Amino acid sequence: MIRERFAPSPTGYLHLGHAYSAAIAWRSARSGAGQFLLRIENIDVERCRAEFERAIYEDLAWLGFSWASPVMRQSERSSAYAAALEKLIDLGICYPCGCSRKDIRQSLSAPQENRPGKSPLRPTATYPGTCRSRSMRGKTDEDAIRINLNKAFDLLGGSSSIRNLEWVETGVERKGVHRLDPEFLESLHGDFVLARKFVGTSYHLACVVDDSEQRISRVTRGMDLVDSTPAHRLLQELLGIEPPVWHHHPLVRDENGKRLAKRDDARAIRKFRDDGLCPTEIFKLSGVPQL
Ligand code: GLU
Repeated sequence: MIRERFAPSPTGYLHLGHAYSAAIAWRSARSGAGQFLLRIENIDVERCRAEFERAIYEDLAWLGFSWASPVMRQSERSSAYAAALEKLIDLGICYPCGCSRKDIRQSLSAPQENRPGKSPLRPTATYPGTCRSRSMRGKTDEDAIRINLNKAFDLLGGSSSIRNLEWVETGVERKGVHRLDPEFLESLHGDFVLARKFVGTSYHLACVVDDSEQRISRVTRGMDLVDSTPAHRLLQELLGIEPPVWHHHPLVRDENGKRLAKRDDARAIRKFRDDGLCPTEIFKLSGVPQL
């Protein structure tokens, strides 16, 4: 049975891009008598607000979506994340990191350590490995936890074994079978964060753990997240999780070609609703004919 999810973060009002994404997942689930699940990704306590979460339920229901309850809320899942993190720590592939964003930026400006990301979507610089030699025994409350990619690759049998890890993508822009490329993963993310200080998880870890818990068979989301997939595939392998299929759809853009953002209230679903538009008109504007 197909199981799809829509996983918004309550950091603003849903916009046309969300209507599009949820509709793609909904239609895929419906086409196979499958299930459409909702997940509230609210680990970022500083940016998430109850008001936006309420608006997510209201807007989705008004658009005609329905979903199984209870809804998974990441703020209630800390023990699941802690268990997964513990498993990764026990594998000996984690280290504590006390670097601030500023530290990371500064160390990246040294030419010998500068390894700019290769991704056309996210040309951000990767973490240079400053704290890599630290041991988990020396972790303090101020530290984040990072994965040591080289140790993780070795654990899984080295580069050639890693290259055998596959996944299927059904989205039009990257359709096909992909293989994990360790160097590409490293250039995209470096030793990525598994848990931030005080939070106990990161987007990557929570997403993999939750997709597994919700038994998601196809992950539908925008192309802006396509570069997370290699990191997720690696974590799944380390945690013994069967990978889903991924479907990264093109982004809904404004008339200037810019990706819609939550702060872009002009395209918020509730703004259109207040202006008198009906759900069918909203789906049309977003680029999907209807549910
Ligand atoms: N919470 C993310 C967002 O609102 C989506 C993450 C995902 O679908 O994997 O953009």
